[in-house]
Amino acid sequence: MSQFWKPGAEKPRLVDDEEGGVLFFSSPSGYANIERQRQRLPVYKYRTSILYLVETHATTIIVGETGSGKTTQIPQYLKEAGWADGGRVIACTQPRRLAVQSVASRVAEEMGVKLGEEVGYTIRFEDVTNTGVTMIKFLTDGVLLREMMNDPLLTKYSVIMIDEAHERSISTDILLGLLKKIQRRRPELRLIISSATIQAKSMSDFFQTSKTRRRPEGEELGPNMESAVLSVEGRGFNVQIHYVEEPVPDYLRAAVSTVLLIHEKEPMGDILVFLTGQDDIDAAVQLITEEDQNRGRKSSGLMVLPLYSGLPRSEQELVFTPTPRGKRKVVISTNIAETSITLEGVVYVVDSGFSKQRFYNPITDIENLVVAPISKASARQRTGRAGRVRPGKCYRLYTEEYFAKEMSAEGIPEIQRSNLVPCVIQLKALGIDNILGFDWPASPSSEAMVRALEVLYSLGVLDDDAKLTSPTGFQIAEIPLDPMISKMMLASGQLGCSEEMITIAATLSIQSIWVSGWGSQKELDEAKLNFAAAEGDHVSFLNVYKGFLQSGKSSQWCHKNFVNYQAMKKVLEIREQLRRTAQRIGIVLKSCERDTVVVRKAITNGFFANACRLEASSHDGKYKTIRGSQEVYIHPSSVLFRVNPKWVLYHSLVSTDKQYMRNVISIDPSWLTEAAPHFYQHQRLKSMVH
Ligand code: ADP
Ligand code: MG
Repeated sequence: MSQFWKPGAEKPRLVDDEEGGVLFFSSPSGYANIERQRQRLPVYKYRTSILYLVETHATTIIVGETGSGKTTQIPQYLKEAGWADGGRVIACTQPRRLAVQSVASRVAEEMGVKLGEEVGYTIRFEDVTNTGVTMIKFLTDGVLLREMMNDPLLTKYSVIMIDEAHERSISTDILLGLLKKIQRRRPELRLIISSATIQAKSMSDFFQTSKTRRRPEGEELGPNMESAVLSVEGRGFNVQIHYVEEPVPDYLRAAVSTVLLIHEKEPMGDILVFLTGQDDIDAAVQLITEEDQNRGRKSSGLMVLPLYSGLPRSEQELVFTPTPRGKRKVVISTNIAETSITLEGVVYVVDSGFSKQRFYNPITDIENLVVAPISKASARQRTGRAGRVRPGKCYRLYTEEYFAKEMSAEGIPEIQRSNLVPCVIQLKALGIDNILGFDWPASPSSEAMVRALEVLYSLGVLDDDAKLTSPTGFQIAEIPLDPMISKMMLASGQLGCSEEMITIAATLSIQSIWVSGWGSQKELDEAKLNFAAAEGDHVSFLNVYKGFLQSGKSSQWCHKNFVNYQAMKKVLEIREQLRRTAQRIGIVLKSCERDTVVVRKAITNGFFANACRLEASSHDGKYKTIRGSQEVYIHPSSVLFRVNPKWVLYHSLVSTDKQYMRNVISIDPSWLTEAAPHFYQHQRLKSMVH
């Protein structure tokens, strides 16, 4: 149990001195009510100014606290002012899929229209819009980037709002660079950059550098090319901050006991807990539920709910429904609840101080998701979530000294800590050849760029002049997947196993096909064994898919086998879309009737860069990557865990106490040199085989 929060020994900190604010619960009762709610949001006071600035400036930067109404209101104001007239569309991007769905359905509800008509959304593999009818479209920034491949000037949009710009996702940064170019060609296009934190200065500098021009004196046409900055005053309540007195050894346990303590000691009000990902969130949901039940009294009124991006729709809805009277909702979330979406009714926040972040090391060529400390900016955002409806409390599971002295002020933009392969291929496909010279809001490292070019060259995507190859490069760019998966699909066309590879690609596109949260780990492991293939996880997916089809796509079958029915339906849907893409770009659809050698060869064609070899002397399953000699292990969730074949390929790495390979297949090392002769010199591999 953690050491903090001794009553009487509190050291409260005020986050925001503002008094007042609005008590405001979402209620479905009628249009007039919704109108009133809309008018009470902080942005409403700025409606006229926002519309004036957008009218007169090419770029408007809007800074406002989370929950002030930026995402849900501004697109509606624009529509009301006529920006969607004449078949034009207002776009609003989000870095996260879940946020896209959630805000789109909220806005449709506010406007009293059916989602997918006047208000729609598009995320990868899911398009809920109606061309010619949809006026406001929410989409991920990644999807907007893809749209540029068919419509480089994004001509159908009158206004593009790049939302959550402070998150600095890799796609946001690429978009900002490209939109700046588009603006020069389309002066009538308006940009809105909105953000929860004051990075507005650097954003406005970015849109103001020498390349944009001022409107010449006396010229009436066209907007002012200097960007405007508007700050929306928030109306948050005071939040008391509590720190732990000693560092906690286990943030998960500490979070669990803090929730139980709040529930025991504090007045009603919902609790929002920030953990890092599906694994620790599911574990916390289970622990809190169990301990709460162990504490006697049948029903203590706790409703414990997870929130992360892979969550099925039905469970998302639970999170957003108002808490029933006499109950206390506990939402355990990733940093998606930090700024992307607003949960009403939260009074207590528990901040683990961590989030899952992507880190890429160009020296070892390894990218993985790491549980890493958050920045001060994130910590403040998390704290602010407690002051939405009334004064709240935030429990930070780290010491005050740590916050003051060790936490970095801001996070690092994702582009500076990512593998650049997907980014480079997209820019190349858009005809941007000089990628290092591209106008980045923050420059990626040149080592990472060189690595990406090298991998793309080995994949056959780029030629000696670093131009997209035809047809391979263009085909791969066309498939809306990671280039390594796209390459694997392309190769499967030649090897005669495209039907299998499309199933595998669809399965890899979703978080997990297994249920979580019910049954014991042991039962789940046993259920998985029924489908386990000696060749590895990808082949096991094929077994699950086959079983699902043979059951007549039965939900009972899924239930019995610990397979997630919703996930399998999604696999079917994605599979259909990928089949259409494959046909369009000329991949021959064919099944290999389960010849697992060709299946694994096709995978090797895409994932050769992720090859590893078991250490000869290893008794604990230690592998080394061929390229960077990094130590890695097979993840316990893999069917090859403890099997430890000599040569393997992995799909991705996760890093906790060690680096773990997720989704692993066994391979023959000779396939590596066949697939990528430039990448693996023949001789070197040969010497390693013996
Ligand atoms: P911002 O983008 O500035 O963070 P939003 O426009 O997302 O703010 O939210 C404005 C308000 O709309 C929030 O305070 C919240 O009360 C309400 N809201 C947003 N999404 C939902 C939803 N899915 N359900 C109920 N209320 C919502
Ligand atoms: Mg928002």
